[in-house]
This record gives sequence, structure tokens and C-alpha cells, in this order.
Amino acid sequence: MVKQTTKEHDLIVDDERTSNTVAALKQGILDNLFYVVGKRVEVATDLDHFTALAYTVRDRILARWLTTREDYAKHNVRTVYYLSAEFLMGPYLANNLLNLGIEDVIRQAVAELDLDLNHLIGRESEPGLGNGGLGRLAACYLDSLATLGVPAMGYGIRYEFGMFHQAIRDGWQVEMTDYWLRYGNPWEIRRPQACVEVGFGGHTQSWADSFGEYKVLWSPNEIVKGVPFDTPILGYRSGVANTLRLWRSEANESFYFDRFNSGDYEGAVGAKVFAENISKVLYPNDEEIRGKELRLQQQYFFTSCSLQDMIRRHETAGHSLENFHEQCTVQLNDTHPSIGVAELMRLLVDIHGFDWDKAWEITSHTFNYTNHTLLPEALERWPLRIFGLLLPRHLELIYEINARFLTIVRAKFPNDEARVARMSIIDEHGERYVRMAYLACVGSSHINGVAKLHTELLKSDVLHDFYELWPEKFINVTNGVTPRRWLAVSNPEQSELMTSKIGLGWIGDLDQLSQLERYAEDSTFRSEWRGVQHAVKVRLAQYIAEKTGVSVDPSSMFDAQVKRIHEYKRQHLNVLYILTQYYRLKKDPTLEISPRTFLFGGKAAPGYFMAKLIIKLITSVAEVVNNDPEVNRQLKVVFLPDYNVTFGQLVYPAADLSEQISTAGKEASGTGNMKFAMNGALTIGTLDGANIEIRDAVGHENFFLFGLTAAEVAARKAAGYHPHQIYESNGALREVIDGIGSGRFSRGDGSLFRPLVDSLLNSDPYLLFADYQSYVDCQDRVCKMYRDPEAWSRMSIYNAARMGQFSSDRSIRDYCKDIWNITRFEIGAGVPASK
Ligand SMILES: *Cc1c(COP(=O)(O)O)cnc(C)c1O
Repeated sequence: MVKQTTKEHDLIVDDERTSNTVAALKQGILDNLFYVVGKRVEVATDLDHFTALAYTVRDRILARWLTTREDYAKHNVRTVYYLSAEFLMGPYLANNLLNLGIEDVIRQAVAELDLDLNHLIGRESEPGLGNGGLGRLAACYLDSLATLGVPAMGYGIRYEFGMFHQAIRDGWQVEMTDYWLRYGNPWEIRRPQACVEVGFGGHTQSWADSFGEYKVLWSPNEIVKGVPFDTPILGYRSGVANTLRLWRSEANESFYFDRFNSGDYEGAVGAKVFAENISKVLYPNDEEIRGKELRLQQQYFFTSCSLQDMIRRHETAGHSLENFHEQCTVQLNDTHPSIGVAELMRLLVDIHGFDWDKAWEITSHTFNYTNHTLLPEALERWPLRIFGLLLPRHLELIYEINARFLTIVRAKFPNDEARVARMSIIDEHGERYVRMAYLACVGSSHINGVAKLHTELLKSDVLHDFYELWPEKFINVTNGVTPRRWLAVSNPEQSELMTSKIGLGWIGDLDQLSQLERYAEDSTFRSEWRGVQHAVKVRLAQYIAEKTGVSVDPSSMFDAQVKRIHEYKRQHLNVLYILTQYYRLKKDPTLEISPRTFLFGGKAAPGYFMAKLIIKLITSVAEVVNNDPEVNRQLKVVFLPDYNVTFGQLVYPAADLSEQISTAGKEASGTGNMKFAMNGALTIGTLDGANIEIRDAVGHENFFLFGLTAAEVAARKAAGYHPHQIYESNGALREVIDGIGSGRFSRGDGSLFRPLVDSLLNSDPYLLFADYQSYVDCQDRVCKMYRDPEAWSRMSIYNAARMGQFSSDRSIRDYCKDIWNITRFEIGAGVPASK
């Protein structure tokens, strides 16, 4: 037989083996169990079955993945590179089944093997390679990029240990390491042939070459290897599979053996340890990471790997580096990869011999920067000393970039040295620092905030000087979330009901949910809507009982605040309301209020004392409230440990009320707010981040608004804010604060919550007291409304129906149009998604 080697033939053969018939799927699972996992059916565990199933699904992804790559190459497309230190992907299996369109056949195949699909889905441990919102956003964007058929690649770090696991002991958070790779990772493929080298430390030498050109040679004293691990990212029935490429740091063998051979055993072992440490562990974010050298190593490591990889791909495709910015656009997800601006300059000037001006033209047209925070303390800056030791050549390049940049500032604003000092990439006040956000601003074509208010505050406040210099660079792209994971996968009950009325189109086009609006006035539909909501709450109640032993009533209102624990997010304001209700009930046990279950979840940064104390406060209040028969029929408080994507998929669909109560002007956007509202929860919230746009979209009458605006917060602070006066004048607040301070909720220990109480009484930096009464009044309106199920369901349906614009598909379209200049979609749909 003549061996055919055409593409078509390979695909056909592949299709027979990996077709989506129940018989082929069953055979695939059994084959993978035997040949890949190495187990017989009789002794296979759930985990073995999960792994075999995951490989069986991956087998069905591979043809799409390779074809997508070939199609992109054929069409010579402009590619988006999304650089992010975090990708909080969540478990893949259920999402891949949805996007492939093979859930039903797989369910049947699995059932015929006497297995339960939902159970196997539950065996997958999630890659927790992110802290929270920022990493999760990156994951939603990858989903939308593939769904829309945008040529794109995500680049990040393959941390060996992801976000820590949280346990609660004695009411306190305890951290445990997350070795998520313990049982392997069936989704990824190691690509050792595409590895790159990254240098650290050492020194530079400069000279003039024979043409009189200034040249620099950097001689690092450590060289580590970056090894890529690729995971396919499927679009929703688009036939496209893009790539998430995560870098693992490994010892550079030759570098390492040279030292061995020269007898420097300790040096060689040290080099190996240095190299392998870099991708070892994800830093839990917030203040404590400041100045941690390893963090800077991580940032440079993955950014350099990614840029070198992009250049190699660009050149392999036959392009000249002069056109790099025409073929490649890079999105910097926050400042973590912003060292890329200096690194691309180094690669172009030192390695590829470009002159400065041409290199700068390419670099500044390649990058775009997304800012994620308004908290000044969270803006990254590196002490010059650490920076110069680790990246001596990059520091020189940054000096040069800065000098040229400040010339532009002086030209536009003559005689304004105060402005020059404010805008300098090098902070010269006291100890000197490199300001990473400024480097990103200078080196990017576009700078975007993540919600309308946030972008306005960037322009008027955090990056005001840059806005005055380059107003045209600033643009808003409001965040979004993927309706695939956050509705279709996590809320099958509601999805089915919606689909029965308006068809399946909403999953790929969330605006279609608006067709549900007319059902808001249909009492039969409202009753079905409530039935679905109840079923979802029963599911969560079972989980809560299993995990915590607390029994909660699914017909009580589920009031949820799940997100990182932070003072600006004000979980403790929520607690003040719970205690207000507690005291009201203690005074009058006959008081009629709608029974409520207060659900909390979220991790505190390990070094953030106040956040950890807030967790202890919640668990302490829970202990008192849940065990007091005078109140525990109406109030229950639950802190759910180890909040992550898997758990989010259970809780967002089950909430009646979503708490989005940050101090106005502090939350850049929020995305939890969107997930809740899509799933039909009503929001109680401040005019902060994307809450404002959500409220405008769902209708002001369908949103519980309270609190000061961002402008009012600023004015209150400017006028001199005195929380103690509010405490003195508000009896209910005083009672609650005194109760916490007295030890009533801490087994008589009056000192335990003293730091929290003192902080509130003396400075209250996040204005809980200023918003307290407004919040309580608003919660009372919520209570009243919940007692009218018809009115509540109507509002709930309007919330879900009007969330179309918060799909990450809309965000990605905005990026394509306003930032990336990508207009062609649907390339690479080479393999039909579902046969
Ligand atoms: C959506 C999400 C977040 C972000 O929540 P916010 O309420 O926007 O802070 C954090 N962690 C996980 C696991 C999420 O899914």
C-alpha cells in the first residue's frame, strides 16, 4: 500500500480513531486507561478514570489545535500575545466538553462504563495559578479569544505550587501549599525543543565597534533555561484551539556541567537551585511581595522567555524583525511583565543590531498596558539596588529610555521640573526605585483601565501627568467574564431553562439573553425561575454541610460575599450589618425578618494581618450567631474555606444577593459582581468599578445602591474625616462596635479584635462608618423586597437578561477594535467543532 502523507489523509485517519461516537469514546477511555495511565479497569481509581477521560478528550482537541496553528501560519495573521504573571484557569474538563460540544455523548460513554461524569469532573484539581480577579480575567480572555477566532497566545509561568490552600483552624486562616501537579496534568504538552535561555546578574561592558557604533555586551552570571508547557485553549464551538504557553525554569545543563567540570560542585548545585526556584511558587499578592527579589526574577524570566519565543516565531515565519510590531501585539496584564519594554529594546539593540530609534519605534508600537489598581500602595516599584544587581543591562536601558522620555516632557511642559520629577521612571525621593507602571506607560501605545470609573480615575488621578502628556493613549475596556464557564458550565439548571425559551445562541452571543426580558412579566416563568434557583441552592447547601458541618436552609436568602479578603472590599462592613440584625433580634425575638444565610469565602494574603483578623471576626460571629437559638432560625453565618474557581462555580449560581460593597473609588472593576448578576443574583453595592455599569444596564430599580460616591469619599477625606463622631452619634453602630470590642464574640477576650476596632474608631481608612447607616437602610430594603417573591424574581430575571455586555466576548471585541487593530475574525475554523 502506498503511504499517503497528505494532510487530508492524516486528518481522516485521525478522525476515525477520535470520532465522537459512544463506541469510539468508550474505546478511547479504555485505551488511555491501559496504555497511558497503565491500569486495568478492575483496579482503576476515580482519579485514574478521570485521567483516562481527560486524555480521551485531549485526543479530540489535538487535530483542532494543530490545524489552528497551520491556518494562522497560512493566513499570515497578526497575533495577540497576552502576557500575564497569572492565569487562574480553573478545571478544564467540563469546559472542554462544552466547547467541543460532546458532553452528551461523553456522558453516555462514561455511563456505559458504569461511571458518573459529574463525579469524574469533580476529581480534577484546578491549576490555581493566580490570586484572584486579575488571573481569572486572563483566563476568561483566553476563552473569548479562541471563541472569536482571534489568533492569540497566552504567556505566563508554570508555577509548581499555585495559590495556597486555605484551611480554617480555630477560626483562623491556615495556609497549606498547593502541589497541583501531584497527579500529573493531562492537558499540557512539554515542548523542550522550544526552550530558551534567560540571564541574570553579572556585568556589562561597552565599546565602540569598527563603525564607531556604541555596543554593549551583557555577561550574566546565571543562565537558566525556560521550558514551555503548552495547553490547548478551545473556543466555544469555533473549531479553534489557541495556546496557553507557560514557562518552567530549569537548570541550564551546559552552564551547570561547566561548573561541575571545573570542580565547583557547590557552585553547580547552587546554580541548579537558583534556576529551579524561579518558577517554584506563586506569590500571594499584596503588600508583602514588595522588594522580593525572586518576584522580579519571575517577572523577567517569563517576559524574556516569551519575547524571545515571539521573535523566533516571527523569524521562522519568514518575517523581518523590522515588521515585528505589525505582526505582533503584546498586552501587558498589569505591570508584572512591564520589564518587557526594556527587554525588547535589549533584544533588538544588543542582539539584533538595531539602532535605538528603530528599536524604540518597534517596541513602543508593540506593547499595550492594562492597569488594574487604584491603590497607590499596590503600584509596583523595585529598589534600584536590587534591580541593578539582577538586571544591570536593563537598568542602563531604562536610564536611556527615561532620559529621552524626560526630554519629551520638558519640551511639552517647559520650566516644570516638579512635573519631570513626578513623571520620571526613576523615583528619586529617598531610596531610589524603578516605577514599573511608568515604564509601561512610556513603552506602550495604549493604556487602559478596566471599568469606566477606573479609567476616569486613572486619567484624573493615578496617571494624571501621563494623561496630560498623551491623552490619546488612554482608553477604557470594561472587564467581562465568559458565559461558558460562568453560566453554561456552572449553572446547568438556569442554562437549560433559558435555552428552552430562547435557544442556545446566548452561549456564544450573550446579548441574546435580552430575549428573556419578556418572560420577567410571565408568572409561570417566574415560578420556574424560582424552582431552578432553589435546586441550585440545595446543591450548595449539601456542599456546605459536607465541608463545614453547618446546615443551612435553602429557602433562606443566600447572601454571598466571596472574593479576596481586603479592607477596601469591606467584608467587615457586612459583619457590622449582621451584628446590627443580631442585636435587633436579641431585643425583640418576635421581629419578623426574612431568614438569611450570610456566606463568606476568600483568602487573605499570608502577611496581611488585618485581613486575617477579619476572617477571625467572621468565624467568631458565626460561632455565636449559629449557636444562639434566639436568632439562628433567621440568621446563619458561614465562612467557606479555600475559595477558588471550582468553589466559585458552585456559589455564584446559588446566591440571591451579591455583596459588592467596596469603598467607592477603590475597586478597579470587579468581575465577581458580573458572575453573580448573570446568574440572577441581585446586587447590593456602591458606585464603584463596574458596579456602576452593571446598575445602568440592569436598571436602577433592579439594583440596591448605597453609600458615598468616589467623589464624596475624596471630599470627606479632604475635609478631615472623623469616624469617632459617627460612632458617638449612631447608637446601633456604637452597640455593635462595643460588642466586638468587649469580647462578646470572642469568648470574652476583649483584646482580640482591638486592632480592628481601634483602626475603625481612629482612622477608618475605608470609611465603613460613613457608609454604615446607608448600608443598613439599604439592607432593610433588601429584606423587605425578598418577602415578595414575585417582585424579587422579576428583578432577578431582568438582571440576568440585561448582562449581555459583560461577556468577555464584548471586552475582547473592544480590545481588537480599539487597541490591537485586529478586524478579521473566524480564521482557523478548519475542523468542524461538532460532528
Ligand atoms: C471572579 C473571581 C475573583 C474576583 O472576584 P471579585 O469579586 O471581582 O474580587 C476572585 N477569585 C475567583 C476564584 C474568582 O472566580
